[in-house]
Amino acid sequence: MLSLKSGKSEKISGEKLISAVGVQCNTEGLGLEKIGVKIDRGAIVVDGHGRTNIDGVWAIGDVAGPPMLAHKAEHEAVITVETIAGQKVHGLDKTKIPGCTYCEPQVASVGLTEVKAKESGREIKVGRFPFVGNGKAIALGESDGLVKTIFDAKTGELLGAHMVGAEVTELIQGFVIAMNLETTEEELIHTIFPHPTLSETMKESVLDAYGRALNI
Ligand SMILES: Cc1cc2nc3c(=O)[nH]c(=O)nc-3n(C[C@H](O)[C@H](O)[C@H](O)COP(=O)(O)OP(=O)(O)OC[C@H]3O[C@@H](n4cnc5c(N)ncnc54)[C@H](O)[C@@H]3O)c2cc1C
Repeated sequence: MLSLKSGKSEKISGEKLISAVGVQCNTEGLGLEKIGVKIDRGAIVVDGHGRTNIDGVWAIGDVAGPPMLAHKAEHEAVITVETIAGQKVHGLDKTKIPGCTYCEPQVASVGLTEVKAKESGREIKVGRFPFVGNGKAIALGESDGLVKTIFDAKTGELLGAHMVGAEVTELIQGFVIAMNLETTEEELIHTIFPHPTLSETMKESVLDAYGRALNI
């Protein structure tokens, strides 16, 4: 029996139940409050280089706040150790951390959503390309899926990419590299993607944002 937010209840029967309870920072009981380490909603506040407000206390990973992902924790750890060792390194840029869901079909994204990009006050261009327009996806029997790309209409900067479909958790890295290199639509349009591959959906989505998709 489900209790809905509306106050109503609903009876659903099924064979399996997935419990998605979420995660939270494990910062209790460490004595952080006693030495004055700043905590915000359970997470240790850090400056992008793992530095807290207390000299000599550093934090990385889940305890240093969302997104709570292994690749964020690992990268943040490297930045922090290098900073402690006295090297000058770029701080963690949370806007370029890919998010992947290993479900069927897979889901992957990086950067701003269309809604967030609009809320930021930018004029945007949005491209979409369905997997059904891609030969490799059809050959694999995986034609359900979509790639969506969001660009700043004035500068051409790639602001975000969102993908649903086969192997998108592998493909998203192309867009992560592109964003890290501050790429624009021009460079992506002039990048050659191999045929036949699922990656062609990525280029087609970029082309679609500029009214130039080839296979739709
Ligand atoms: C079921 C599940 C699936 C996940 N799948 C993915 C995934 O597919 N991809 C992804 O990117 N992320 C995934 N995550 C998230 C990922 O595991 C975490 O973001 C990542 O492990 C965070 O690294 P961390 O070093 O901050 O913390 P942890 O890996 O949790 O390491 C913390 C360590 O500190 C130890 N510890 C805790 N308290 C104390 C203490 N008081 N004293 C000493 N040691 C202590 C713990 O035992 C642990 O060894 C998943 C998480 C869960 C729970």
